[in-house]
Amino acid sequence: MNASLSETVSKTVSLHPSTLIARAKACAEVAGQFASSVDSTPRFPSEAFAELKKQNLLGTMIPTELGGDGTSLADVMDICYSLGQACAATAMIYAMHQIKLACIIRHTGGSTAIEAILRRVAAEQLLLASSTTEGNAGGNVRASEAPIETAADHITLQRKATVISYAQYADGIVTTARRSATSEADDQVLLVVLKEDYSLEPLQGWDTLGMRGTRSEGFSLLVKTSPEHVMKQAYSEIHTQTMVPVAHLTWGSVWAGIASAATTKSQNFVRKAARQSGGTLPPGAAHLTQAVSTLRSLRGLLQSALSEYQDILDDPKAISSLNFQTTITLLKVQVSELALSTVLSAMRCCGLTGYRNDSEFSIGRHLRDVLSAPLMINNDRILNGLGTTTLMAPIPKSING
Ligand SMILES: Cc1cc2nc3c(=O)[nH]c(=O)nc-3n(C[C@H](O)[C@H](O)[C@H](O)COP(=O)(O)OP(=O)(O)OC[C@H]3O[C@@H](n4cnc5c(N)ncnc54)[C@H](O)[C@@H]3O)c2cc1C
Repeated sequence: MNASLSETVSKTVSLHPSTLIARAKACAEVAGQFASSVDSTPRFPSEAFAELKKQNLLGTMIPTELGGDGTSLADVMDICYSLGQACAATAMIYAMHQIKLACIIRHTGGSTAIEAILRRVAAEQLLLASSTTEGNAGGNVRASEAPIETAADHITLQRKATVISYAQYADGIVTTARRSATSEADDQVLLVVLKEDYSLEPLQGWDTLGMRGTRSEGFSLLVKTSPEHVMKQAYSEIHTQTMVPVAHLTWGSVWAGIASAATTKSQNFVRKAARQSGGTLPPGAAHLTQAVSTLRSLRGLLQSALSEYQDILDDPKAISSLNFQTTITLLKVQVSELALSTVLSAMRCCGLTGYRNDSEFSIGRHLRDVLSAPLMINNDRILNGLGTTTLMAPIPKSING
């Protein structure tokens, strides 16, 4: 595996941590300031991304030799968490960009064309979008319809990309594709292209309950580029080793941030209510305890899965093992459900005050945003996918000893 990536994921940040925290805090402040208008308009969180670029946080995970800071995955998760507390759409966009970067950083395969893109991302603070959802295949990331078509000196891809978050605002797209017209649907590659190499034709809009600022519209994606922009390693390996673990850890951090924001509001609500009634707790106060409890479990699960991933990072065989893949796949299901129940507890704690859109303790936006968590790679699809495995495989000794 690429040594620089191993360092990226396993070490602490190469900068002084307080510098990184201060930079992330500045971005979270801006994100929080505009979160309401991003949600209600709905619009891309341009102010937060201007600040993220100003703070050089878009390319921060890129190794120093390619112009980044070499920031660790753990620190990127913390940034996702802080942004999630402030504005879920900003946090999710930031997470999706970092997931794509992690895949590229780890699997460059020494390609100068791919490394050149990483240098540009670091130097110009470019934003990368992700295209995996396609046509009728829906949320099945491990199947692609559209193939890479090869001509004499270039390749093309024409893809019905039914959901690409912030595509109109991104500087590049990282997309899965069928390796060739004669390949099976699961014989996929990952293609990395910058704006000059593709065009987008709108297919459908994005009028949703939550995560409205992600602007996850549908497009026909038309790519014409050099074959060097296809990552050499098979997508199946990139998916298992990097895409799934980093996606589940960073998404989980975003959802934990949303859950934390809702919990904090409910705590403030209980404190205010108690002050106003001479110390008597409001009837819904027990739900605050419940919210804190599920938030603790959620963060504990993320920390434990991160440690497990860091421990085996240099061992692709261990990452691909049934045990780790089950852990990291189920992590997504568990953290998304825990985040949702935390926000629901916060809502019940605040009662009508939390239900209102016009109160300082309103939980509405957090609830609408977090409702996307079980759908983003549908939990039902995940659980059904794991059904046969769970039936056939012995229960690991670590949980059945
Ligand atoms: C906020 C947000 C941002 C997103 N951004 C992007 C993006 O940038 N790029 C991108 O490519 N995609 C993006 N997506 C799409 C996402 O990756 C998934 O494709 C999508 O959430 C799947 O939604 P689904 O439930 O309709 O689809 P499916 O997973 O196809 O599920 C459809 C229905 O069928 C059921 N189902 C499907 N398969 C099975 C199965 N095997 N077993 C049992 N039941 C099954 C599910 O329960 C569900 O009810 C985004 C989604 C969200 C919510």
